[in-house]
Amino acid sequence: MTSTIGIIVALDYDHGDKALAMAERLDPSRCRLKVGKQLFTCAGPKLVQQLQRQGFEIFLDLKFHDIPNTVAKAVTAAAELGVWMVNVHASGGLMMMQAAYHALQQCSHQPLLIGVTVLTSMDTKQLQQIGIYRTTTEWVVELAQLTYQAGLDGVVCSAQETPLLRRQLSSRFRLVTPGIRQTRTICDDQKRIMSPAAAQAAGSDYLVIGRPITGADDPLQALSLIEEELNCPNGH
Ligand code: C5P
Repeated sequence: MTSTIGIIVALDYDHGDKALAMAERLDPSRCRLKVGKQLFTCAGPKLVQQLQRQGFEIFLDLKFHDIPNTVAKAVTAAAELGVWMVNVHASGGLMMMQAAYHALQQCSHQPLLIGVTVLTSMDTKQLQQIGIYRTTTEWVVELAQLTYQAGLDGVVCSAQETPLLRRQLSSRFRLVTPGIRQTRTICDDQKRIMSPAAAQAAGSDYLVIGRPITGADDPLQALSLIEEELNCPNGH
C-alpha cells in the first residue's frame, strides 16, 4: 500500500493562543494544519502567519462561495498569505470555480484549490428543501465532476464517497476527507466515519483529523498511532 497520504490536523479553537499552543505540541514534518471559519474569524491572517513561522503548511478552510469576481479576489488573498491549500464551494458553479482557478494562475505562489461538494451535514431531504432532487451521492459526483472540469486540484468529500470518485476521476485529483475515527476512539458528533486505514484504502489523499489528535492527552502520540495504522511513520 502506498504511504503518500497526508494528515491535516483541524485546529477548531475559539482563540489564537489555543491554536498556537496545540501547534507547539505537533510536528510540521508530520502533519499540516487546518484553519477554519471560527479560528480565522477570531484570530485572522496574523495567526496563519504565526503558524507558518512555526513551520506548518496551512489549509485555509473558508469554503468561499460568492460571485466569481469576489471569490477570485479571496483566493488571491489566500495565495498572498502563502497558504498551502484553500477551498471554495463547488455549488458556487463552474464560472465561479474557473474564476478562482484563473486568478491563482496569476499568483506567484499557488495553493492547491479544492472544491467542497456536499456538506456531510446534508441529507437527501435537506437537498430537496433547496430544490435538488438527487441523492447526496449523485450530487457529490456531479459537483466533483464540475470541480474537475473547472481545473481545480480536488474536492472535499466523505471517505465513503471516495472509492466512487476515485474510479471516475483522474488519480491526480486530490480527495480530502474529514470524518476520520480510529475504531477504538469515540465518534464525537461525526456520523459517517471511517478509520484512517480504511480511508487510505478507499483512495483518500489527505485525512482531516481534529479531536482524535487535538483532544488527546498526548497529541503527538495520537498522531504516531494514526501514522502506524497508515504505515507511514514520520511523514506527511
Ligand atoms: O474533530 P473532527 O475530526 O471531527 O474534525 C473534523 C474537521 O473537519 C472539522 O474542522 C470539521 O469542521 C471539518 N469538516 C467535517 N466535515 C465536512 C467538512 C469539514 O467534519 N464535511
